[in-house]
Formats: sequence, C-alpha cells, structure tokens
Amino acid sequence: MTRPSQPPRGIRTDAIHAGESPDPVTGASAPSIVMSTTFIADAEASFSAEDFGENTPYLYTRWKNPTVDQLEQKLAALEGAEAAIAFASGMAAVTATLLYTLSAGDHLVISDVSYAATAEMTNELLPRLGIAVTKVDMSDPENVRVALRPNTRLIYAETPANPILRLTDIAALAAIAREHGARLAVDATFSSPIGIRPLGLGADFVIHSLSKYICGHGDAIGGAVLGQKEDITRIRKEVAIRTGGIISPFNAWLIQRGAATLPLRMKAHEEGALAVARFLEAHPKVIRVIYPGLPSHPQHELAKRQLSNFSGMVTFQVRDGARAATILADRLSVIHYAVSLGHHRSLIFYLPTSEMLRTSFRMTPAQEQSYRAFAGDGIFRLSVGLEDPADLIADLAYALDGI
Ligand SMILES: *Cc1c(COP(=O)(O)O)cnc(C)c1O
Repeated sequence: MTRPSQPPRGIRTDAIHAGESPDPVTGASAPSIVMSTTFIADAEASFSAEDFGENTPYLYTRWKNPTVDQLEQKLAALEGAEAAIAFASGMAAVTATLLYTLSAGDHLVISDVSYAATAEMTNELLPRLGIAVTKVDMSDPENVRVALRPNTRLIYAETPANPILRLTDIAALAAIAREHGARLAVDATFSSPIGIRPLGLGADFVIHSLSKYICGHGDAIGGAVLGQKEDITRIRKEVAIRTGGIISPFNAWLIQRGAATLPLRMKAHEEGALAVARFLEAHPKVIRVIYPGLPSHPQHELAKRQLSNFSGMVTFQVRDGARAATILADRLSVIHYAVSLGHHRSLIFYLPTSEMLRTSFRMTPAQEQSYRAFAGDGIFRLSVGLEDPADLIADLAYALDGI
C-alpha cells in the first residue's frame, strides 16, 4: 500500500504532530527546548527588524525562536490559519492586534462585554492615544452596523463573551466588516479552536489567551494572534519585535505540550460542563444557569449553528451571590475558588455586577439592561475541569447546601 500524500489530517493528529518532528541530531521523539537567546549569525545578517522577513534565519529570540516556532505552527494547524504569532500573554496578543490595526484618528467598535483588561484598555489607554471607541452589544449584529463610522478600522468581538457567555454571530459580523472595509478580530479564548474557527467564518484575526484551554494545565501564561501570513509577519516585525511582549521558550514548550491533548480535553470539558449545568439548573437554590449547550441559553440556536464544542464554561446565579461566595469559597474542596479558566482543575469565581460595571464595563443604560438580563446582580463563573463530573456535582451540592 502506498503512503497517502499530503492528506488533510484530523485535528487530533494535528494537535499532536503539527510543528513537531523528531530531532535530526539526537532522534529525540519529543521536542527539546531551545532556551538560547542568540544564534550564530552570518557576518552579513542585519541588526535591524526593518529587514525582517519570513525567511530571516534565527538571530535573537525576541525575533524568533525554534521552540516558539513549533508552538506557532501547531496553533496555526489547530486554527486552520496561514500563520500564528505567540506572545507573553493573552493581553500582549490583544495589545499587538490593536496597535497593528489602529492609529490615532481611527475608530474601534468593540463588544460592550469583554475580558476585563481588554475593556479597561478601551476605556482609557486607547482614547488617550487618539483612538475613538464605541462599545456595542454584539448579540445583535445590526448594533455593529449602526455604530460604524467612515474611520472605523477594526471590529473586535469576543465569543462566548467573558463572563456572561453571550454569543456573537461571527459570520454576520464578518459580512458587515467586509462591506465597510474594516477588519474583524475575534477573541475566541472561551471556545478554543475546537469550538470555533473564526477565520473560516470570515474574521481577519483570532486571538487566544493560551493561558486557558490551549495550555490547559494552569502552569504557563501565553497568548497568540492568528491570521493571514502577510499580517502576522507584519505584526512580528512592526509590533512584537519592537514592543517586546514575546513568550519565553519554556512557556511555549509547556503550552505546546498542553495543546497536544486539546481536542480530547475539550470533549471532556464539554461533557462535564453539560452534566454540571443540568445539575445546577435543577437545583432549588440556583436562579439561573447560562451554558451555550443548554436549550435555555437565549442564543442556543446560534450556539448549535456556530459552535462545534460548547466548552467548559458555565455561569450561574443564586440569591445574595456575594454572601454565597464566601460560603462556596469555604465549602468547596475539589473546585478551587480562584480566577482563570480552561485548566484541568475546576475553578470558580464570583463576579458582582455593580463592580464589573464600575471597573471594566462602562455601559449605556440599554447595554446594562442586557448585561443584567444575563448576570442579574452577580454570577458565579465556573470553569468545569476534567475531574469526574459526579465529584464536581457532589462538591457543588455540599457547598450550595450551606447557603
Ligand atoms: C484570560 C483572557 C485574556 C487575557 O489573557 P492572559 O493570558 O491572562 O493575558 C483575554 N481574553 C480572554 C477571553 C481571557 O479569558
């Protein structure tokens, strides 16, 4: 039998093999870590990033590094992207995307609900740099169309949006962006490339906090931007090399190791989250559960159409959430009361609505009403890990019994 040539490989095979090949010198099957900051260069090598191109050899690790390259190739394969660039954190990836696409005098349309640090950056830092910002509720794509101005250069979405798990129709936004000549960036950290591939739906950039599902083990912070090769090469040259938010090769190695099991982990996250969400929905002390995989999610139809995995994020409300938070923090033992998400360990955190509105989300009354429709006075954001769902349910049952 002949070996199949260039087969389109499955996602599980790509997650394991993309970007990696056995070491040509030692024959090592697992990838090694190249920690060297500098590389032996030709005497003619340029010292400036000005001459940086796709074929520039390794010179200095802030420019590129063999271990980071491996991670970037694996991410690109998982996302179906032409190219990827890794950063020191998700926020460094967000910052690079904004600095690459926006200049003073430009206008940004961004989701009114987004990761706290992203929202806070659009409240102060971007306006100070001369970039106008309009926040809109992107659950209705028409709100985006209405917000566009002649100088709108970027539309920025997050789906599902942190922390309320509200969804955005990425294909609809891509059509609006294209019509207007604006670019579309999507932070898809909460769904991972197993849940959604925004580039295939017409987005120009996908952003991930690698610290979450892609690393998956809560032991390395990183971020990435994925898109067309031309954009990613320019982001590397014009932003990453010059602003310096690059990832450590050690973290890239850890994240690459985690990414190998992403497709399997996402299946288990989804299975666990569905079981926990159903348990919570039936619990007398729980007022509301939000999970895209439940028919009760207000956008369940969009979720079914657009997400190939509902992920492991569940939010729920109880009466007097602030008081319940201290009880849950005390009584939970398998589930850690801690920020972050996407780890093998389950994590829970309480997000009070008035505090979120004061610190991160500065909203119009209509936007606040939409936020409260999802979050009430506050929500528990639960990242369902890879433990046995029955143990998570028992942990929650005991903790909820105390409120
Ligand atoms: C965590 C997170 C970020 C920021 O990522 P870091 O790696 O913590 O800098 C951005 N967007 C979303 C949706 C996140 O969950």
